[in-house]
Amino acid sequence: MKLSELKHMENIQDYTRKELAQWLENKGSRSFRAGQIFKWIYLKQAANFDEMTDLGKELRSLLGSNFYLTRLSLEDKQVSSDTTEKFLFRLDDGHHIESVLIPEKDHFTLCVSTQVGCAMDCKFCLTARGGIVRNLSVAEIVSQVRDARFELVQKNLEPLKLSNIVFMGMGEPLANYDNLIRALGILMDTDYGMKFAARRVTVSTSGVVPKIVQLGVDTDVNLAISLNATDDKTRSMLMPINNKYPISALLDACGRFTMKPRNKITFEYILIKGINDSREDALKLVKLLAPIRAKVNLIPFNEHEASDFKRPEPKQIIAFLQILLDRDMTAMIRKSKGADISAACGQLKAKLVTHKNKGIETVQI
Ligand code: SAH
Repeated sequence: MKLSELKHMENIQDYTRKELAQWLENKGSRSFRAGQIFKWIYLKQAANFDEMTDLGKELRSLLGSNFYLTRLSLEDKQVSSDTTEKFLFRLDDGHHIESVLIPEKDHFTLCVSTQVGCAMDCKFCLTARGGIVRNLSVAEIVSQVRDARFELVQKNLEPLKLSNIVFMGMGEPLANYDNLIRALGILMDTDYGMKFAARRVTVSTSGVVPKIVQLGVDTDVNLAISLNATDDKTRSMLMPINNKYPISALLDACGRFTMKPRNKITFEYILIKGINDSREDALKLVKLLAPIRAKVNLIPFNEHEASDFKRPEPKQIIAFLQILLDRDMTAMIRKSKGADISAACGQLKAKLVTHKNKGIETVQI
């Protein structure tokens, strides 16, 4: 199909099932067809509308003349020595994003992006270097998951083995809130959509406070907070968003986040040598999180070309963990997979090119 034709059409993956049902009704079709169409797209991996054989010919042609159904264009795929795979997708407007497929013992986890670039400007994160370009659409978010499952199909693996999603790729999920919620509706649609269980979906945020409580109202996904420091001075230095929403406001919102009785909020804490890895920091962390149902994920800093920060020695990392465990905190060290292909936490940058032009450095993603 020609690009000019596509322009008049919409990506069907931008529609929630409810919206598609409404659209069908407006066209004089039956709304329950939306469920059938969803099954074809999200469970049976249909490549086009003609494959949807339990729909009438007329409906298929109606869909075909109003919508398009595509996969993201996979520009590159890298496979780590630990079999983690990183996908580089080229979007329709030429920008790029990455997703990471992480093998676990008996399932896969996909690390999903929500924006091209990121506006948060965290000093330790490579994605931040490019600034923000734009939000991802609903279709671009759910396609990362649909396409990763298609990868499994092609390898003769069960697609539903991809059972866990973490919104920890490029971008700040809560800064693209509406599309995030709509995408979650499709991903967690248990009858016709992608069937992800709420306990297997985690949204990670740098601390967009006004949206945290809302997320608990709108969904029952797991919440992860990138905390990374125990005092405002250090946190503001590392994460400028802390100037707007300091630690007290962040933890207050966490206290008001509604979740199931046995659930906990995950606090991600990057360990950076000489910055936030002292014994005092560990003790302060215990104290800060005492009022909250929390678990701690320590992430030893993943070094990359755009930062002088260093990862602490293993001895220091273990000592930090031990202080938390000795005080009955649930805590663990997160092993970042895929470091050899720059797929670990904080290493996603897609295609980031810096140009020096008349002394001004600009960045293109
Ligand atoms: N914007 C969201 C989603 C990104 S998640 C958020 O901030 O939570 C990315 C996770 O990787 C965050 O917990 C972040 O703190 C962590 N991270 C970023 N850069 C890192 C690095 N270089 N090494 C280790 N972890 C890093």
